[in-house]
Amino acid sequence: MLYLSTRGDPGRKRFCEILLEGLAPDGGLYLPERYPRVDAATLSKWRGLPYHELAFEILSLYIDDIPAADLKAICAKTYTADVFGTREIVPLRKLEDGLVLEALSNGPTLAFKDMAMQLLGNLFEYELGRRGEELNILGATSGDTGSAAEYAMRGKKGVRVFMTSPDGRMSPFQQAQMFSLQDPNIHNLAIAGVFDDCQDIVKAVSNDLEFKRKYRIGTVNSINWARLVAQVVYYFAGYFQATASNDQRVSFTVPSGNFGNICAGHVARMMGLPIERLVLATNENDVLDEFFRTGVYRVRGSADTHETSSPSMDISKASNFERFVFDLLGRDAARLKALFGEQLAASGRFDLGADPAFAAAGAKFGFASGKSTHADRVATIRDTWQRFDVMIDTHTADGLKVARRFVQPGVPMIVLETALPIKFAATIVEALGREPQRPAKFEGLEKLPRRVTVLPADAGAVKDFIAAHCR
Ligand SMILES: *Cc1c(COP(=O)(O)O)cnc(C)c1O
Repeated sequence: MLYLSTRGDPGRKRFCEILLEGLAPDGGLYLPERYPRVDAATLSKWRGLPYHELAFEILSLYIDDIPAADLKAICAKTYTADVFGTREIVPLRKLEDGLVLEALSNGPTLAFKDMAMQLLGNLFEYELGRRGEELNILGATSGDTGSAAEYAMRGKKGVRVFMTSPDGRMSPFQQAQMFSLQDPNIHNLAIAGVFDDCQDIVKAVSNDLEFKRKYRIGTVNSINWARLVAQVVYYFAGYFQATASNDQRVSFTVPSGNFGNICAGHVARMMGLPIERLVLATNENDVLDEFFRTGVYRVRGSADTHETSSPSMDISKASNFERFVFDLLGRDAARLKALFGEQLAASGRFDLGADPAFAAAGAKFGFASGKSTHADRVATIRDTWQRFDVMIDTHTADGLKVARRFVQPGVPMIVLETALPIKFAATIVEALGREPQRPAKFEGLEKLPRRVTVLPADAGAVKDFIAAHCR
């Protein structure tokens, strides 16, 4: 399988080459040249496989430069009941007839990002070991990405993590999760500023090509294809659990900000998984809901980007969205370059509303969308607790609220649960008047000793720190 850029760069790469890279050289995103099609016989063969074997079957369609036995071992080591809490890895929980939750949040950091990041950690260690190279991962986080990356990379040979976060702005649980890690290869940098300052610092350091090369700086952000393909697996696993046979269809609702999670659903559907609808749910930061309603994609300024109680979806633009638009527009790379390169840079928006292809987003690709507000989240969390005795987090609440509008008779609706409520305790207390449930292994987390360095919002200070910690 070869990979190409959405913006038309003529180069073609193999999986392990793009594994350690971010953007393609022309600023586009990598996608496979084609989506492997899965027929009914293959679906039948896969139904009932343990999660790690299903992961191997799917990944091996996209990865042909890791020997099968090695890839199999990596999958088996990644997706264990020990790490993810259950034998199913992503168990379903029924709420009412036709509506179920798929739990993606029982990994080490209690958010769905573990599903991909845990695999990435093992792939990085494998590939760096094979090449005899090292990598220093520099990232910016407002919470979930940073902790998932740190728990995936802790103790891994050849990898160091330098994770910037806005000082004092993550939830107390998220801070405790990250800062309590004592592994020498994990470095927490609390930046005196906001999340945008952290992102600006990462950009500034990455744009210093000499520094980047000298210190082998890499990233693990959500545009990484390996993360995306790892996520494809749980769409299949959810489908098999929700259906008795392969002639049934299901729909998924996905809480979304950067279009990372739901993009994997799009890939699963392109492979032939019988998905009726892919319902995208945003919070007040409704960049993507606006697109699917009107065809207008409009990047928000920071004054227009709201801080909400589902903070992992507080985005001004959707960094993975370009992949879907590439498919929507018939893989016309020249057009993608004009839209995402030139037009977005010039005006911060484009409008496909009048384009005949836009109608295909729903009709051919199955997309629908909706948005939810703080009041909706609180009401949904309360209702779910009172009626079903199930406590959900704020992001999952956004999904559940929107999902109900799109339930169709005879088509199970699977809502992806993207985090556990303990990560966002303040809103749970507001909705339920009580503290969220806490998995036993996190008792006393906030009392553990912390390892974090506070730095000014200055790229030079971060560079100095990295240089001092990479001998
Ligand atoms: C990252 C995250 C999201 C948004 O996922 P994207 O695929 O990046 O849009 C939703 N919920 C939680 C809990 C997250 O951590």
